[in-house]
Amino acid sequence: MKLAGKVALVTGAARGIGRGIAEVFAEEGADVAVNDAGNMGQAEEVAAAIRARGRRSIAVKADVGKRSEVEPMFERVWEELGPVDVLVNNAGIETIVPFLELTDEQWTELVDVNLRGAWLCSQVFCRRTVAGHRTGSVVNIGSIQAAKVLPGRTHYAPTKLGLEALTRNMSAEVTPHGIRVNCIHPGLIDTPMTAWVMQNPDLLPGVLAQISLGRAGEPREIGTVAAFLASDEASYLTGQSFFVDGGWQGK
Ligand code: NAP
Repeated sequence: MKLAGKVALVTGAARGIGRGIAEVFAEEGADVAVNDAGNMGQAEEVAAAIRARGRRSIAVKADVGKRSEVEPMFERVWEELGPVDVLVNNAGIETIVPFLELTDEQWTELVDVNLRGAWLCSQVFCRRTVAGHRTGSVVNIGSIQAAKVLPGRTHYAPTKLGLEALTRNMSAEVTPHGIRVNCIHPGLIDTPMTAWVMQNPDLLPGVLAQISLGRAGEPREIGTVAAFLASDEASYLTGQSFFVDGGWQGK
């Protein structure tokens, strides 16, 4: 078990990739705090399933883009599960809006969650970890769109390439304190976010034809890579971003 004895906080973990990461982490021995912003019924279900496996787990509500919610979230997790060893910045939203039509509000809402949220959660986590003279690991969830143009994503894609820069720059500052920081760029993963593609027979074959493995990934296939990056097996890895995309970006 790669994460035995560790406490992890996974943001946006009520469903999709976050849920897959939380489940794999629990299987690898971690106690897991399951964060979400609104979908707390499902977050509670994920936490209950993890407890049923014999691990400790709580569901914690917070909008990752708001410091007034993020700081109390970490306080509660530290109190109830103990000091956090691993933070996974997974929470994210995607909208599709042509560049010429994008509004200030649409830009701000998305950037606040996808980029500011990861920065904010990381800062609160790292401040606590450094103050406690502890070590830790951060895994950011970016996107293949850090390297690939898809239409209507002039707000989304920069947040994901931004996470790559955040990963590198944070690593330079916090790795000397014992906190490794890495990033996963998923390709097409079968989640509620991508249901509009996965369930569209006119669209899906064209997308799958661009992927070397010829299929979408499962959330757990991001979870297993995240578990490796968060574990001591990746002890010499920091500041790096990895495409986990079935061979889409390179094709
Ligand atoms: P998803 O199915 O939409 O799940 C995202 C989860 O994040 C939801 O439970 C959502 O909860 C939560 N969330 C949204 N805003 C939040 C906030 N401000 N604070 C806390 N939680 C929040 O999406 P997914 O496909 O699993 O994607 C997860 C991450 O992977 C995202 O960062 C996404 O950009 C990235 N990604 C996904 C794919 C893919 O193919 N699926 C590919 C590349 C990258 P609510 O319902 O409460 O909003």
